[in-house]
Amino acid sequence: MIAPEYHIRDCVEADMDLIRYLFSVEGFSDLTSPEGIRVAVTPDNTMYGACRLEQGSDGSWNVRPIVVFDVVQGKGVGRALLKDALRLHPDLRLVARGEIEPFYLSCGFERCGWDAIAPEYRAECEACPDKAACGPLPFRSLPIERTFTFLGTSSGCGVPAFFCHCPACEAARKDPTKRRGCTGVALRGHGTTIIDASPDIRHQLNREGIDVIDDFFLTHAHYDHMGGLGEFEYFIRLYLMGTMPFHGSEHAIAEALKEYSYMDDCFALDVMNPYDVREVDGLAIQALPLKHAPGTFGYLITTPEGRRTFYAPDTSDLKPEVIEMLKGVDNLVMDSTFWENHGTARSHHDVRQTVHEGIDILDAGHIYLTHLAPHMCDPGVNEIDEIYAYAAQFDGRVIVAEDGMQFTL
Ligand SMILES: [Zn+2]
Ligand SMILES: [Zn+2]
Ligand SMILES: [Zn+2]
Repeated sequence: MIAPEYHIRDCVEADMDLIRYLFSVEGFSDLTSPEGIRVAVTPDNTMYGACRLEQGSDGSWNVRPIVVFDVVQGKGVGRALLKDALRLHPDLRLVARGEIEPFYLSCGFERCGWDAIAPEYRAECEACPDKAACGPLPFRSLPIERTFTFLGTSSGCGVPAFFCHCPACEAARKDPTKRRGCTGVALRGHGTTIIDASPDIRHQLNREGIDVIDDFFLTHAHYDHMGGLGEFEYFIRLYLMGTMPFHGSEHAIAEALKEYSYMDDCFALDVMNPYDVREVDGLAIQALPLKHAPGTFGYLITTPEGRRTFYAPDTSDLKPEVIEMLKGVDNLVMDSTFWENHGTARSHHDVRQTVHEGIDILDAGHIYLTHLAPHMCDPGVNEIDEIYAYAAQFDGRVIVAEDGMQFTL
């Protein structure tokens, strides 16, 4: 592979002499600590550029400033630093020289009024002796579309399962569009967050054109949800050249690291307790405890606009307190493992239970059926076909999830 020329990381004290020089050229000589500064550096730690994110007295987040060394102009460093900044603070303000306007317009910003800029920064511009030459303009980041993509929609063993000749598997052998990989999802905004690494994840990421993962959440430590974790190793070692944030329950993380002990230096581990919330790429992602395997979470994803999506690929009956939290959820993406035959263990939902809970108890806007397992069917019955026919009676409110299907969060 062609290793990236530079990557972006938090600024550390050792960078500060250079940062002070770099920023003073731009008129920022008030630097006291590396806090809030992100730097673009090569593998041998040569700095290409830096960006400081500072919170104004009005609570807004501001780029103050972004600087790229002249000799590396044209390598997309400024654009990469801004993308990184937007992932950390999606609602971002900045004041820039008028002549640079086209650059910011092409990076997801729009011109805004001076009233969107914190008063102390406005005053700074007013008092600046270079104001006339600089022609400063205020900018604000544009809201972006945030999407939820199904990477896979099958329970463990996929459709077709190599050993299974049920009608659904036979149909999938003949028609690739009917194939399903193990479950996982991608949340895309300024960055990409992946929930669960199924054994099929390499193909899923290639299919979706995902070449960078910024955050990883694990629902639980079953093979069909973490069997693809090893695929991340070389992405982390060769591309990130750092660690990848890995969020999950204490039990799930411990089990995953037992399987992938040789990757224990690859992750920035984040143990979440039930009901903990993490802010990731502008989304609030809350861990809700589920009855399934030890330490299983579903994740309640809330956008800055307050739209809510719940992802729970593996769950038995929902706890009363979880039901209360999910009432009125916009999108319910839930375990629909079984159709007619429940098997022996009741550690999952069946299709009718998910639809009943989604409509009658939670009043969910849309209900997506995932983690499908059509194999234990009655003779000659294609369960997937039956599930589609069943879902069709709900006028589009109940949707059979498919690999690659996407909706706006
Ligand atoms: Zn599963
Ligand atoms: Zn499971
Ligand atoms: Zn089958």
